[in-house]
Parts: sequence; structure tokens; C-alpha cells
Amino acid sequence: MAKTALITGANRGIGQQVARVLAGDGWDVLVGARDKKKGEATAARLRKDTGGRLKAVELDVTSDASATTAAQKLRDGAIKIDALVNNAGVYGVARGPDGASLTLETNFFGPLRVTDAMLPLLRDGATITNVTSGLGGLENLDAAHDKRLSNAQTREALVAAVRDFVDSGGKGWGTDVYGVSKAALNALTRILAAELAPRQIRVNSTCPGWVRTDMGGRSATRSVEQGAASVLWGVTATETGGVFRDGRRIPF
Ligand code: NAP
Repeated sequence: MAKTALITGANRGIGQQVARVLAGDGWDVLVGARDKKKGEATAARLRKDTGGRLKAVELDVTSDASATTAAQKLRDGAIKIDALVNNAGVYGVARGPDGASLTLETNFFGPLRVTDAMLPLLRDGATITNVTSGLGGLENLDAAHDKRLSNAQTREALVAAVRDFVDSGGKGWGTDVYGVSKAALNALTRILAAELAPRQIRVNSTCPGWVRTDMGGRSATRSVEQGAASVLWGVTATETGGVFRDGRRIPF
């Protein structure tokens, strides 16, 4: 039986390339996109290009209602998920408190929200891949906040830390909001890996490197194929709880 993957933010960039590769490899692919029409267009294009099985799923990762509705529709279709790729992300969306809030809602609370909504649909032994960035290295944070994230052992402690950061206007942690969002995502990976170990669900962060997408820009050093390959490693990973680039563990 074919395995099923759900990829958030799969209508362009790295997410779309991850969808393309998995569809070409025979996976059933759920193309997550906040804009239904863009998701459907991507699914149609990749069906044509790969001959694979792809379906669009409307999913705005910043919305509880959207995540719940998406999960309900998949449940109604009796769909089980073997791989969840939390890829949707934003960078440099806006300056000031609004930018901090949107960045953390998308890059940190998004993966948490989507994971929680999809958990009942995830098969035991599934993988969750959180797409991170080298900019989320804890060494970029000041010592106090590096400690606060690395000492957080529960999701409650981690969420409280992130809420404090957002409430302080996204300032004062020694790095920018994007760096904090990905550092917090890596801490979430560690905590989810422990939470989900009893179900043999493996949770890892994977960094695509600096990639030529709308986000990475034209000067980036890596092609979208290279970036996606680094992310795809997480889909079949046997390890759990780490941060990886090109299949090699990186410190966090
Ligand atoms: P991108 O080309 O800008 O694509 C971002 C994707 O995320 C788009 O599909 C976008 O959808 C989606 N998205 C944004 N907000 C969303 C929301 N609220 N709900 C659902 N989808 C949403 O970026 P990319 O370069 O492919 O980046 C993919 C991931 O890799 C991100 O997590 C990013 O942080 C990470 N990353 C990228 C680089 C790089 O150099 N490119 C480096 C390190 C890490 P719309 O089309 O609707 O906006």
C-alpha cells in the first residue's frame, strides 16, 4: 500500500519540490496550501509532471480552525498519514511586534498546531519533519535565552517562553524573530520526539541550507532540488529528536 505524506506550504518553493519528489517515488501526496486554488493548481501540475497521486488540502498553519477542518476532511476520507512535513514558513514579513507575532505563529505555533491536529491521523511509526534553518542555532541567542530554550523540557515551558518573546515585541533575545522562531522549533522537535516516542513516531528538524526560492532569493547557494533533498531526509529518518542538514546532525 502506498504511503501518504502531508506537506504544508507545498504550493511553491521547497515544499512543492518535496511534494514532487515524493509523488514521483510513489507516495500519495497531500499538498497543503493556505490558498485552495494555488494548492489545486500545484497538485494538478505535479500530477501531470510525475504521473503520481496528489491532492490539495486547504491549510493555513496560523489558524486553529483551518487545521481542525483539514484534519476532519482527511478523517472523513479515512486517510492515514505516514509523513508530515511542517514546511510552511515566513521570513522578514514585517518589522515590529506584528512581524514577531506572525513569524512565531507561522514558524513555531504552525508546526505545533498542525502536528496536534494531525496526530490522530498519523500512523504509529510515522515521521514528522520540521523545516528549520541554520539561523535557528542556539549559539545565535544570548546566553539567558539559549538556556531558557535548551532547558525547556515540556511544551508548556517552551510555549510560555515563546509567548514572552512575542509579548516583548520580538526583541531582546540576541537574534531576530526568524532566528528565534527556528530555535524554538528545534526545541519543539526535541520535546515532540520525547512525547511521541511511545508511538515510534520520529520527529526531526531538517535544514535545507540557503536555497533559491522566493524566500532565499536568487543569490542563494543551493538549488531547490538540493534544499528539498536535505528536507526529504527527515521523511524516512530512523533517528529522532535531532537537527540535520544533508542527513548530518548539526548542533542546536
Ligand atoms: P517560500 O518559497 O517563501 O515558500 C513558503 C511557503 O510557505 C509557501 O507555500 C507559502 O504559501 C507557505 N506559507 C506561508 N505562510 C503560510 C501559512 N500561514 N499557512 C500555510 N502556508 C504558508 O519559502 P521556501 O524557501 O520554500 O521555505 C520553505 C521552508 O524552508 C520554510 O520553513 C523556511 O523557513 C525554510 N528555509 C528556507 C531557506 C531558504 O534559503 N529558502 C533556508 C532555511 C530554511 P503562500 O504561497 O500562500 O504564501
